[in-house]
Amino acid sequence: MGLGSVFDAVDLHTHSTVSDGTDSPAQLLRVAAAAGLTAIALTDHDVTDGWVEAAATVPATGVALIPGIELSTRYDEHGSIHVLGYGIDPTEPRLVAELATIRAARVARAERLVEKLSAVVPISWEDVVAHAAPGVTIGRPHIADALIARGVVRDRSDAFARLLSPRGGFVESYPAPHPVEGVGLIREAGGVAVLAHPASRAAVRSLTETRLMNLARAGLFGLELDHPENIPEHVPPLRDLAARLGLAVTGSSDYHGTGKRNRIGQCRTPADTVIRLLAATTGTRIVLP
Ligand code: AMP
Ligand code: FE
Ligand code: FE
Ligand code: ZN
Repeated sequence: MGLGSVFDAVDLHTHSTVSDGTDSPAQLLRVAAAAGLTAIALTDHDVTDGWVEAAATVPATGVALIPGIELSTRYDEHGSIHVLGYGIDPTEPRLVAELATIRAARVARAERLVEKLSAVVPISWEDVVAHAAPGVTIGRPHIADALIARGVVRDRSDAFARLLSPRGGFVESYPAPHPVEGVGLIREAGGVAVLAHPASRAAVRSLTETRLMNLARAGLFGLELDHPENIPEHVPPLRDLAARLGLAVTGSSDYHGTGKRNRIGQCRTPADTVIRLLAATTGTRIVLP
């Protein structure tokens, strides 16, 4: 594959078993190759540990790797916001410290959630740990997998619909940095920040125009407006705002393997946007075949 075609078919948001995807980083690149993609960003939740294995699989698959992360941030109790970071330096001390804090908060929250669930369904913390490899970012999907194994729910979607959504009454939020601080952390680590699924049900609840303007002022690069979970009616106003604020518009699948219905490559980012995005990173380079 020549350099000219590296940016032809790019998916900027995917997950591996290092967070809550079901494909290993190496499998992820093979799935991407089979889907005809030329480059993917690996954006595990609050962790960069999958990059090494993914990068090692670039030559065999011919799929370029854009090193990324999906950072958990929040405005308030109900205002969870995910910020994608591309090309960050994974050794930047402030980022490293913040990621460790977020992952610890996630574990504490998951333990409380399992504790509450165990009063009504058969589940233990040991069950959950058995469904997450050591050192991965624990999330509700791993609890869902434990519930599936116990025969409590059919699949992850069933688990979210019945027990793991905020409406289920068991889930608590976990502490995370303010979104403006999240954008700052990514930028200071030499990365480019893009707001993940800003028109999703959860995001539209807290993303006011003022907040978006403040994120743009903090150095936000773009909005992920082409995403399977964005609610169509909320996209056009955000597209207008992106144009006014000079923000780029990206598209990505948020593929999680068999853990979610999103198909790899179902939403993509145009080559010129990918090139502009990569040009703005100074932390870690794209890994080319
Ligand atoms: P957490 O990280 O614990 O807040 O859990 C949220 C994660 O669960 C998100 O990253 C989604 O990938 C995943 N998720 C949310 N809803 C569903 C669903 N209905 N089916 C499968 N995965 C889901
Ligand atoms: Fe996820
Ligand atoms: Fe997300
Ligand atoms: Zn994601």
